[in-house]
Amino acid sequence: MTTAKATQMGKTDLAIIGGGPAALSAAIYAGRAGVAPTVFEAGALGGTLTQIAEIENYPGFIGTGAELAANLRRQAELAGAKLEYGTCNTVRRSAEGFELEIDGARYFARAIIAATGARPRPLELSLDVPVSYCALCDGSLAREKRIAVVGGGNSAFQEALYLAELVKSLTLITHSRVKADAILVERLRRYPNVEIRENLEPTAELLNKFDYVFVFIGKQPATEWLQDLDQSLPGAEHQAPTQNSTGQGSQSIAQNLARKGLLLDPAGYIIAPENRAALAGLFAAGDVRAGALRQAVVASADGASAALATIAYLQQIAQK
Ligand SMILES: Cc1cc2nc3c(=O)[nH]c(=O)nc-3n(C[C@H](O)[C@H](O)[C@H](O)COP(=O)(O)OP(=O)(O)OC[C@H]3O[C@@H](n4cnc5c(N)ncnc54)[C@H](O)[C@@H]3O)c2cc1C
Repeated sequence: MTTAKATQMGKTDLAIIGGGPAALSAAIYAGRAGVAPTVFEAGALGGTLTQIAEIENYPGFIGTGAELAANLRRQAELAGAKLEYGTCNTVRRSAEGFELEIDGARYFARAIIAATGARPRPLELSLDVPVSYCALCDGSLAREKRIAVVGGGNSAFQEALYLAELVKSLTLITHSRVKADAILVERLRRYPNVEIRENLEPTAELLNKFDYVFVFIGKQPATEWLQDLDQSLPGAEHQAPTQNSTGQGSQSIAQNLARKGLLLDPAGYIIAPENRAALAGLFAAGDVRAGALRQAVVASADGASAALATIAYLQQIAQK
């Protein structure tokens, strides 16, 4: 493992931006096919997996997110991938493909796989009590406290199940009806220290009554590093940013936007519907891709598809 700064003006055939399951799966497939990629990860290798206490729905694997992350990382290294820590700040077209800026250092790549995932959507309230977006990271700070969990989807319930074991009391607050899978809802309801409040607006006044607040209200894509490239494309002026993620049902919207030649959809997700190609040489995989079902197994499959499409692209340009 090296840092990006050590490689001033580095060159690679394939740069993979991000280090979550999409990126590491892409690295495994690319490496095994003979294209050893360089992976640039801004935070923790394994991505969001490193913050998940228990993974129960990744076929063939039962264990913590950190264990799955470590396995993926090891497999990527065995396949020959070079793993570096560094944040990609921007990317531009260059004669050789793409010029990346990683922590201030320039890097050239013939092709890129964008796998930067999505970050937690912030609760836009100013609270007097501590707020966390990660149960595994901050759960121990809430031990024996009265906590609120904001959110009504699978992530909120999954995280609440972890927190319920630690805290004195847990009130799950969702402004609408609960949307999580029935199995998770049933399991959480069994805890005597848990109360589930539906159709209740989580105001600052309400949340300040708790000792600690955990928030799981969705995600927003990590694509700020693609803004320059996006704005340089024809048709970029047609975009009007909106606040919402696209999600599973938006594949046809993504396809329509792709036909207009846009790189990012109005919510900022990468439009890459076919073969995971967003534009020549730039591929996308995982949570950052518009229309993707945001789960680890899908991110891994997406990474594999993106790697194979990228290899075909690199072979094609090599023949020219
Ligand atoms: C609380 C919670 C529980 C979950 N539980 C499950 C579960 O049980 N089962 C399941 O299948 N899925 C679960 N998920 C969803 C799953 O974690 C994601 O679908 C999956 O991690 C997406 O993988 P990814 O590689 O696309 O993105 P991520 O895992 O988010 O990885 C993206 C990586 O890119 C890095 N990055 C971002 N920007 C840059 C940049 N500019 N330069 C360099 N690096 C960058 C980030 O640091 C991050 O490490 C859960 C998610 C949450 C939030």
